[in-house]
Amino acid sequence: MSEYRKPIYFDNNATTPVAPEVFDAMAPFFTEFYGNPSSVHTFGGQVERHIEDARESVAALLGADSREIIFTSCGTESDNAAIFSALHLCPTKRKVVVSKVEHPAVLNLGKELVRRGVEVAEVPVDSNGRVDMERLAELVDDSTAVVSVMWANNETGNIYPVEEIAEIAKRHGALFHTDAVQSVGKIPIDLSYSNIDLLSLSGHKIHAPKGVGALYVRRGVRFRPFIIGGHQERGRRAGTENVPGIVALGKAAEIAARDMEIETTQVAALRDRLEKGLRAAVPVTRVNGDVENRLPNTTNISFEYIEGESILLLLDRFGVCASSGSACTTGSLEPSHVLRAMGVPYTAAHGAVRFSLSKYNTAEEVDFVIRELPPIIERLREISPFWPPSE
Ligand code: PLP
Repeated sequence: MSEYRKPIYFDNNATTPVAPEVFDAMAPFFTEFYGNPSSVHTFGGQVERHIEDARESVAALLGADSREIIFTSCGTESDNAAIFSALHLCPTKRKVVVSKVEHPAVLNLGKELVRRGVEVAEVPVDSNGRVDMERLAELVDDSTAVVSVMWANNETGNIYPVEEIAEIAKRHGALFHTDAVQSVGKIPIDLSYSNIDLLSLSGHKIHAPKGVGALYVRRGVRFRPFIIGGHQERGRRAGTENVPGIVALGKAAEIAARDMEIETTQVAALRDRLEKGLRAAVPVTRVNGDVENRLPNTTNISFEYIEGESILLLLDRFGVCASSGSACTTGSLEPSHVLRAMGVPYTAAHGAVRFSLSKYNTAEEVDFVIRELPPIIERLREISPFWPPSE
């Protein structure tokens, strides 16, 4: 059994720990500055300034203007708000184009839209998870209200050519939305010269707490609120603001901008060390995704002919946290829709494990997993009816 007491947390695409500085920044807004920012008295009103500071910080991380940022409750709300708004504002256009590897926040919304009479076209991906750009260009037409393709995939880490896709959408007068929940804070984003109209992000993926997100709406793009009520967020998102969450998101954005280089160098080096070490120690593995073009923190490795879920359970005994799919689909025992869309064979898709690192991980943790995981795989293969594979 492990000599480690603290969990080794390699599941940062599911959620991240709140950074200590973020926690310190938000704490006074529970106990000291608890006023309602809409109140007329000074006590409430002073909170408003902190919300605006947070808006500036989020905008700065994206290369956007603070007036383009709307605070929401999560990435899912931002995705829903963006797509519903586009459909409301273009009542004559009844088509939405998405990729087959979107998060359920978009794909399941698509299913609901189909029930409401909207045509939803899903663009296929190739075996590396790359979007079929030719097919996308065919599917986007003048009846398309919005194209929504994620900036980076939560399971494989694949990064998508969002600017190129935005250009295609623009040619047909469609809006372009991107779910950037996984890319914000991990890779540089600059919307100052961009055709992206709408972009979603989520606090809990960047070391802020759960329950806060944001939607970027490019200046000049009309927006219809998804949550209707009071006049908060300049009438674009009703509901009393989650002030501690918003302050936390602002602080997390500031830190993400400051530490971007750590993500792209240090975290990437740790991820590469893990991937290389495991592949050297375990035969018959494959890395799922576009290894040339993916997030610096993510690797999705198939340990073929065994169940990813069993690997996770045994890893858990050593205090190692990883994932076999997105946190929203694990538990179903169905292989991930992302790997299925990529045509990954069943025996490999079932044995997929996603490791997603952060700047809080260490080389010792990586080496611990490289040491402890191979015997787990060997044991599971000994009892697998599919092992050894027949030629
Ligand atoms: N989009 C992507 C790509 C995600 O990875 C997630 C969360 O896993 C979401 C959307 C949903 O974000 P939230 O949990 O903030 O609703």
